[in-house]
Amino acid sequence: MKVPLLDLKPQYLALKKDLDAAVLAVCESQQFILGPAVKSLEADVAKLSGCAHGVGVSSGTDALLIALMVLDIGPGDTVITSPYTFFATAGTIARVGARPVFCDIDPATFNLCPKAVQAFIDRDCEYRNGALIDRRTGGHVKALMPVHLYGQLADMPALMKIAQKYGLRVIEDAAQAIGATDEHGKPACSYGDIGCLSFFPTKNLGAFGDAGMCVTNDAALADRLDIFRVHGSRPKYYHAVVGGNFRIDELQAAILNVKLPHLESWGAARRRNAEIYYSAFERASLVGRATPPPPAAAGAKHIYNQFIIRSQRRDELRQFLATQDIGTEIYYPLPLHEQECFRYLGHAPGDFPEAERAARETLALPIFPELVESQLRYVVERIAQFHGQRS
Ligand SMILES: *Cc1c(COP(=O)(O)O)cnc(C)c1O
Repeated sequence: MKVPLLDLKPQYLALKKDLDAAVLAVCESQQFILGPAVKSLEADVAKLSGCAHGVGVSSGTDALLIALMVLDIGPGDTVITSPYTFFATAGTIARVGARPVFCDIDPATFNLCPKAVQAFIDRDCEYRNGALIDRRTGGHVKALMPVHLYGQLADMPALMKIAQKYGLRVIEDAAQAIGATDEHGKPACSYGDIGCLSFFPTKNLGAFGDAGMCVTNDAALADRLDIFRVHGSRPKYYHAVVGGNFRIDELQAAILNVKLPHLESWGAARRRNAEIYYSAFERASLVGRATPPPPAAAGAKHIYNQFIIRSQRRDELRQFLATQDIGTEIYYPLPLHEQECFRYLGHAPGDFPEAERAARETLALPIFPELVESQLRYVVERIAQFHGQRS
């Protein structure tokens, strides 16, 4: 049996007729830039995210970048985020000239831990002229950028409380969490000032290339996003601000419009697959050797962009599974505070122990919607075999 980590082909084949027609329709129209498909996608994705406005952009990375730009975050500013995420989260903070400050994750969810954020503020920050200042660097702490990693919301009520208390803006990195809701029924991107989504092909709603979106409930911010997306141009060829080319392609929007109505059922299939994994792991009694993290809070809708387990012998296990035709991946092997490009932040191993432990122990297993139960059982059987043979 073969169980790839991800196979996008069955999804394409299931929707081939509609997808091909949507692509052809854009070709026929020759309207490639910010046309009706973009408008329609923006409205639908905003609604799904509990937001009034959507602004389609060129990628999830550019969604984060433009969000920071419209919130006027730049040199001298500091943004609090997670050290355990895809690089773009902190990369974009650095690219606007601001300083990322990392706070450790909650080991149960892999998401930014509100207690760690509060501890950083208590320990290292003070008020000067009404601004929250990181005493160590003099940086003005302006924003929180939590990540809803693997498809599960960060503890937004607690993070929003901190943001409100200290006057911080909030950018939600929801690149892996479109359509996820928390136990309060609130969707990803419905809490912060701006939510950032990615339609990279491997995300739950994947385009045929790069695409992304910013969503917000703030009409003034939506308007700024709209201006910054086209080089800050308004009226055309007049620039009060410097933006960039951050546009989403009409072709990608047309493809996403075909896929979007299926997103809910794909999410349900991923949750069903997760349930199968949870019960198979329980039966295999692998506790302490290879285990999924605590299940999502009751009533929450985890969308399982990834299904993650922890293993003390992660690298060996991964190698063994490869020999059994089972695809896995490590998201992410090196936490951001240990990346070479962030050496100037002055961190050392041990600074964020939970992020570091996650980077050592986690392994992503196949979870995509089209997998069948026998494949999932095979994955857990092989994991049990690995431990049975050698532990
Ligand atoms: C994928 C991803 C991004 C970047 O999205 P792209 O569309 O690939 O640019 C940002 N943050 C997280 C957490 C991601 O998973």
